[in-house]
Amino acid sequence: MNLRSNEPFWLLKNGLITSYPSLKSNEECDVLIVGGGITGSLIAHQMVMEGYKTILIDKREICNGSTSATTSMLQYEIDIPLSELIMKVGKKGALRSYKACSDAIDKIEKLSKEIKSGSGFKRKKSLYYASNKKDSQWLKKEFEARKSAGFDVKWLEAEEIEDRFGFEKTFGGILSKQGASIDAFKFSHELLKLNIKGGLQIFDKTEMNKVEYYKGFNLVTVDSGFQIKAKKMIYCIGYESKNLIKENFVNLKSTYALVSEIDKKKFKNIINTLVWNTDKPYMYMRTTDDGRLLIGGGDEDFYDAGKRDALLNKKEKEILRILKKIKPDYNFYTDFIWAGTFGETKDGLPYIGEHKNFKNSYFVLGFGGNGITFSVTGMEMASFFMKRKKHPLSRYFKFGR
Ligand SMILES: Cc1cc2nc3c(=O)[nH]c(=O)nc-3n(C[C@H](O)[C@H](O)[C@H](O)COP(=O)(O)OP(=O)(O)OC[C@H]3O[C@@H](n4cnc5c(N)ncnc54)[C@H](O)[C@@H]3O)c2cc1C
Repeated sequence: MNLRSNEPFWLLKNGLITSYPSLKSNEECDVLIVGGGITGSLIAHQMVMEGYKTILIDKREICNGSTSATTSMLQYEIDIPLSELIMKVGKKGALRSYKACSDAIDKIEKLSKEIKSGSGFKRKKSLYYASNKKDSQWLKKEFEARKSAGFDVKWLEAEEIEDRFGFEKTFGGILSKQGASIDAFKFSHELLKLNIKGGLQIFDKTEMNKVEYYKGFNLVTVDSGFQIKAKKMIYCIGYESKNLIKENFVNLKSTYALVSEIDKKKFKNIINTLVWNTDKPYMYMRTTDDGRLLIGGGDEDFYDAGKRDALLNKKEKEILRILKKIKPDYNFYTDFIWAGTFGETKDGLPYIGEHKNFKNSYFVLGFGGNGITFSVTGMEMASFFMKRKKHPLSRYFKFGR
């Protein structure tokens, strides 16, 4: 599967940070991580910290899947509003899931400080505005639900949004204190490089082709024919898990992102804020640390990469029309545009846990708009799984739920 079109901003901005060798011998390990995007990087870090002999493989160059295409907004807000998630999974599960995403932002900040990351982690507020009058009614209820759950939120009327952010024609919105942005591509590279010192072995351009199951270990054959004997496997293969797992557990969508030319003055009102709205599909935007506006949306069902990428020009116009509505005086000059694939689940929650058809194995699949924060939550969950401990989120994130 082709996960993205050719020009994601992060890949062009950072270039090829580090290239790793492919597998050229048979190896053994405690944990084999399949997939070297942000999820695999975080999980590898956790495993190395806990002293497991860990190998990570990726069939592409490292971080060249969805992680190079992401807009990297770190939000505690799941695609499904809290009030709706409560109806779907119950109050306990909904609150735990929202709280986990909130904690994940703190955790990624701590980690980025610990590793002295240069990936521009920045704390931001998050503005979720109503695009029309009807949406404003349920959004106010959503505000109440979040407030009573203890989240630091404020309701802003349309005039306040205009005064603070210069956005016209909104119908009020929720301003949340918790949020952040990062360059996930760079962060993952940094994390992986650091863990090599702790013994992590990384092989890129190494595709897992076959898995044989034995008592207490799996034997994995890669495309070059070499084998890895692993006591446990952790699949961090993102949306390509759809090719591996038979049941229909995720709907693939295409999403589109544009990055403007640099203009530090023009975006000064929102440099400290993530912005998204109640449109279906929703529009999302943030600034980059080099002074650009990154704006995305236009989600469509994914059929194939060709059809997805053929819509780039149409989607650019569609997304910029939404921006024009709230910022009529503003001309957006596109520097980069790309399309990426992501996955939507029935409840907006990820799949993290065991699957009955895959012995000695766990999956960490952060789906939806909050993929990255879910992957951070996956670190603690994977740690619990390895110790055969039950995690309080397992029942909400498990397969077959
Ligand atoms: C345009 C866009 C905007 C987004 N915006 C946000 C956002 O603002 N905030 C947010 O939290 N999330 C966002 N997401 C989602 C986020 O990007 C993903 O959740 C995240 O990048 C997934 O990381 P991953 O490591 O799980 O997957 P990937 O980065 O895709 O990594 C999986 C890796 O597995 C490898 N692999 C697959 N099969 C095999 C195999 N058989 N053998 C070896 N290797 C294999 C692949 O090559 C790939 O590198 C966005 C996504 C897109 C496309």
